[in-house]
Amino acid sequence: MATVDSSQAGNFIREIVEGDVKAGKHDGRVATRFPPEPNGYLHIGHAKSICLNFGIAQEFHGTCNLRYDDTNPTKENLEYVEAIQEDVRWMGFTWDALFYASDYFEQLDEFAVHLIKKGKAYVDSLSAEEIRQHRGTLTEPGRESPHRHRSVEENLDLFARMRTGEFPDGAHVLRAKIDMASPNINMRDPTLYRIRHATHHRTGDTWCIYPTYDYAHPISDAIEGITHSICTLEFEDHRPLYDWVVEEFKGKSRPQQIEFARLNLTHTVMSKRKLLDLVEKKHVAGWDDPRLPTLKGLRRRGFTPEAIRAFCEHIGVAKRDGVVEMALLDHFIREDLNKRAHRVMAVLRPLKVIIDNYPEGQVEEVEAINNPEDLSAGTRKVPLARVVYIEQDDFREVPPKKFFRLTPGQEVRLRYAYIMKCTDVVKDARTGEVAEVHCTYDPETRSGGPQANRKVKGTLHWVSAKHALDAEVRLYDHLLTKADPGDVPEGQDFTANLNPNSLERLTGAKVEPSLKSAPPLSRYQFERQGYFCVDPASSGDKLVFNRTVALRDSWAKIEKARLEP
Ligand code: ATP
Ligand code: MG
Repeated sequence: MATVDSSQAGNFIREIVEGDVKAGKHDGRVATRFPPEPNGYLHIGHAKSICLNFGIAQEFHGTCNLRYDDTNPTKENLEYVEAIQEDVRWMGFTWDALFYASDYFEQLDEFAVHLIKKGKAYVDSLSAEEIRQHRGTLTEPGRESPHRHRSVEENLDLFARMRTGEFPDGAHVLRAKIDMASPNINMRDPTLYRIRHATHHRTGDTWCIYPTYDYAHPISDAIEGITHSICTLEFEDHRPLYDWVVEEFKGKSRPQQIEFARLNLTHTVMSKRKLLDLVEKKHVAGWDDPRLPTLKGLRRRGFTPEAIRAFCEHIGVAKRDGVVEMALLDHFIREDLNKRAHRVMAVLRPLKVIIDNYPEGQVEEVEAINNPEDLSAGTRKVPLARVVYIEQDDFREVPPKKFFRLTPGQEVRLRYAYIMKCTDVVKDARTGEVAEVHCTYDPETRSGGPQANRKVKGTLHWVSAKHALDAEVRLYDHLLTKADPGDVPEGQDFTANLNPNSLERLTGAKVEPSLKSAPPLSRYQFERQGYFCVDPASSGDKLVFNRTVALRDSWAKIEKARLEP
C-alpha cells in the first residue's frame, strides 16, 4: 500500500486527529472513509480526498473504508462503481472495508420511522417549489408547512405508503422537524426522504423512496464507526445537521465532520456534471481522454500515482478555497518521470537527411544511455545508416542568431554518433519547401573515436530512416484557453473556453526501433521533447504515443518570475 506523508504539507486535519488520539477520544481509534457518489469517474480533486482519508488512516494506524454514496439512482451506475475501485487501487490504496449507503437503506428507513414516532420527522405534502418558498432566506426565518403538525399516526401511515409506491414522485417528502426559524437554513426542517420511482443499480426496484445525502451520510458514518468524517467546505453549513442526525441516531460512534477546501485547477473543470457534459457532447473522446483531469485521463496521459500523491502532499490541506496552477501538477509528473523514464529518440516532424559520405548499405549500432539519472537502467543499441530523420525545427536554411542546430555550413552532432556538416539543401520544386538536406560526416568523431571529444554547439536527436518505426504522436494542450473556466461572456458556459487546439495529432512521426514492443501505458522521455506514454490502443503495427508533458518546465519559470519581480 502506498504511503502518503501527510506530515509534510500544511495539514490542519492531521493536527486535529493527532490531538484526538492523544486525548483518547474514540479510545484513540481513527476511522475514516472515502465516500464517492458513483455518478461519474474520479478526478484529481478526488485524489486529494483519497490521499487525505487513506493517508490519515495509515498514519494513525486506523482504518479507511470505501463507501459509495449511492442514494441517487437516476445518475448512478455500475460502470462508475467499478471504475472508482480501479482508480482507488491505482492510486495505491486498499480499503479496509467496502460499503454502500444502499447497504443501510433498511436501517435508514427504520430510523426514519423512529424519528416519526418521536415527533421528530413528518411527511410534508407541499410541492418542491412551495417548500422552497417556505424555507425563508438568510435574513428571514422560514414558515411552517401546514402539514408540520400531522399526527404521528398519520405520518407513519403516509410514510409507509410512500415506501410501498402508492404516490408519484414529488407527492410527499419526509422532513426532520427541527426549527423553521433557525439562522441556519439547513436546520429548517431538512428533507430526509424523497419519492423517486427509479431502478437502483444495486437494490433494483425494492425502493421508490431514497434518503438524502444529509440524512444518509451521518448515519452511514455512525454505523461504520467512523471517527473523522472528512469532507469539502460546501458542507460546513451542514455540520449542525450532521451533528443533529448523529446525536439522534446514537450509533457505534459519534463521528466528527471536518471540512477542507476542495482542489481547483486552472484551465480545466472538475465537477462530474461538467465532465459528463464534455463526454456526452463529444468535446472529448471519453472519460479517459488524456485532456481531462479524471484519474483515467491522467493515467492514459502518462501520469503516475506517485506524482499525483506527491502533488497532493505538496498542495496540503487548507480551510479556504483556492486555485492551483496546472503547471504545478505538470512539474510533479516531470520530476517523477525524470527519475525513471527511459530516454529514447523520436522525431515528431521528420526531415530527411542524407549523409553523402556514409557508405551505402552500412549500418552501425551506437550505444545510447537509457537514463542518465539512473545508470543502472543500462544502455541500448540504436542503428545508424546513411539516411536519417531529424526534426524539421532543427534545420534552418537561413538561421536566426544563436541558432546552433543544422544550417548550411554548420556542424552539429548526432546524439551518441558523429559530427556532421550540412552541404546542400534540396527543395520541393512545386512548393519551395525543404525536401531533404545533404550532409557529410566526420568518421573520426564517433564516441570512442579519436575526435570523439571535438565540441560542437548543437546536438540533435535522430532516427535511422531505414530502421525507424512509424508512429502517431498526440500533443495535448490545456482543455480550456482561460485559467478560470467561469471567465466567459454573459449567458455562456465554460465550453465557450474550450481550446480548439487542445489536441494536435502528428501522424508521420518516426521513432527508434527499440519502441517496437513498448507495452501500453509505458512511459518514455523522447529526447529533447518531453515525456510520452504509449496509448492503450497502440500496437506494434500502429504505435500511438500521448505526450504527458513537454520538457520545458513552465512552473519553474513562473516561480522564477515570482522571485524576480
Ligand atoms: P463533483 O462536484 O466533482 O461531482 P462531488 O463532491 O460531488 O464532486 P463525490 O463523489 O461526492 O463528488 O466526492 C467524493 C469525495 O471526494 C467527497 O468527500 C468530496 O468532498 C471529495 N471531493 C470531490 N471533489 C473534490 C475536490 N475537487 N477536491 C477535494 N476533494 C473533493
Ligand atoms: Mg457529491
